[in-house]
Amino acid sequence: MDSAYCPDCDGKIVMNPHARLGQKIVCPHCEAELEIISVEPVELDWAYDWSWDDDEDYDEDEDW
Ligand SMILES: [Zn+2]
Repeated sequence: MDSAYCPDCDGKIVMNPHARLGQKIVCPHCEAELEIISVEPVELDWAYDWSWDDDEDYDEDEDW
């Protein structure tokens, strides 16, 4: 897993190597809220249920 493309702006998104199915990320280009819907290959889709509180073990590698 290395990179994917934003379904909103087509921007290339470098994936965290530890990213996993269902993880939610924010596009660094357009700030779209996305979810990993497939990992081999990586596919992203818009996250419809954006609730960090339900995801207790997501990676915190992003600089907020
Ligand atoms: Zn985008």
